[in-house]
Amino acid sequence: MIRIYSAEEIELIRESSLFVGKTLAEVAKHIDTGVKTITLNEIAEQYIHSIGASPSFKGYEGFPYTLCISVNETVVHGFPSEYELKDGDIVSIDCGVYKNGFHGDSAYTFAVGQVSEDRKRLMEVTKQSLYDGIEQAKAGNRIGDIGHAVQSLCEGNGYGVVRDLIGHGVGAHLHEKPDVPNVGKQGNGKRLQEGMVIAIEPMITMGTYKVNWAKDGWGVFTQDGMPAAHYEHDVVIRKGQAEILSSFEMIEKILLERNMYFPKNK
Ligand code: MG
Ligand code: MG
Repeated sequence: MIRIYSAEEIELIRESSLFVGKTLAEVAKHIDTGVKTITLNEIAEQYIHSIGASPSFKGYEGFPYTLCISVNETVVHGFPSEYELKDGDIVSIDCGVYKNGFHGDSAYTFAVGQVSEDRKRLMEVTKQSLYDGIEQAKAGNRIGDIGHAVQSLCEGNGYGVVRDLIGHGVGAHLHEKPDVPNVGKQGNGKRLQEGMVIAIEPMITMGTYKVNWAKDGWGVFTQDGMPAAHYEHDVVIRKGQAEILSSFEMIEKILLERNMYFPKNK
């Protein structure tokens, strides 16, 4: 069953999704060389509580933290830790906020200090693939159209598209139907209908798409040790064009102010 959300419910999902953007913007103020990733987790958790919300991830199937913080070859689901960010790292931060009965779920990859050109390019293409996917997420299209758009851009640039993890429906539950893979065939899969809310989240690697799981049972890292990037938006399906419920605007305002690199939208 794929849920169709009412206008009122969509507003509440939007509110939670925007809080994710605000939380990630708070985190963005503190991303720097020498900063421990556990510190970023604490900042996010305090902020989420300060707005009367709760972190969606903490306790989800036993996940112990508010943020997933995935550095370099870690694709997703990295544990915040005592690791201190280094110049040249790319760090993907995924966050969920639960408020008024609905979840928002969004992710962004940040550049720490001076990042190599090939890493910037990976970030740029991954972010663009998210928007290419969103362009296909409209009523009447099918799930496969989204994956096809993400896959063609990323593989066309020589990157790997992770298969073992996928996007998903989001709203009343953090993860619900439908599955939203980042690979696919045009015209294949479930038909998209107005009022469906999905999280689109390309996880793209500089090398192989194959991944392994860390001993903690959560962290997912590339088999060849090459870096990965991850951007995620929550969108509601509409006729003609999807509406993006989450936002990177607040994050990028901070990154601009701090003179940190981020891929500009085309
Ligand atoms: Mg997420
Ligand atoms: Mg997600």
